[in-house]
Amino acid sequence: MSRPALLIDRDGTLIREHDEPPRSAGEVELLAGGAAALARARARGFALVMITNQSAFARGWLRFEEFAAVQRTIDAQLAVAGARLDAVYFCPHHPLEGEPPYRRECECRKPGSALVLAAQRELELDLARSWMIGDARRDLAAGAAAGVRGILVATGKGAREAEKLTALERSRTHFAADLAQAVEFALGA
Ligand SMILES: [Mg+2]
Ligand SMILES: [Zn+2]
Repeated sequence: MSRPALLIDRDGTLIREHDEPPRSAGEVELLAGGAAALARARARGFALVMITNQSAFARGWLRFEEFAAVQRTIDAQLAVAGARLDAVYFCPHHPLEGEPPYRRECECRKPGSALVLAAQRELELDLARSWMIGDARRDLAAGAAAGVRGILVATGKGAREAEKLTALERSRTHFAADLAQAVEFALGA
């Protein structure tokens, strides 16, 4: 009994992106309409899974307690709209920056698909019926490598990233103004 999922990027997709990722509750701002749309997806049987690169760990800029505090705030704001994430997966690595063990080549950093595959195993997801929603080309690539269809949002760096897509990537990508529109598209597809 595997479920479809919405695999959702965090920065620039679910929450407003700044130059550096948020480290405290006051810096968290959900993008308008996203939470309500996720609640509708959940009611329709979609698992909701966040998959996020957090190289700020590798750069020594972010501590786990800060990341966790931000996540609690996100969860609380989602709950107001009736939405709840089934799981959060993050990559703390960077191939070049910082010090080991966080400085390393890994398979979990998007465009790697290791976290998508971990979610599939642990949550029993049906990836063929799932969607990856993000504001970066590498979000879409992480999904595509695991057979997940992608939706690029125009928030965050999405508008700029759209210019970087190859013809092949463009042909298999859906485009949405924001997370709310992306979710509605996925529910109607
Ligand atoms: Mg992003
Ligand atoms: Zn990693």
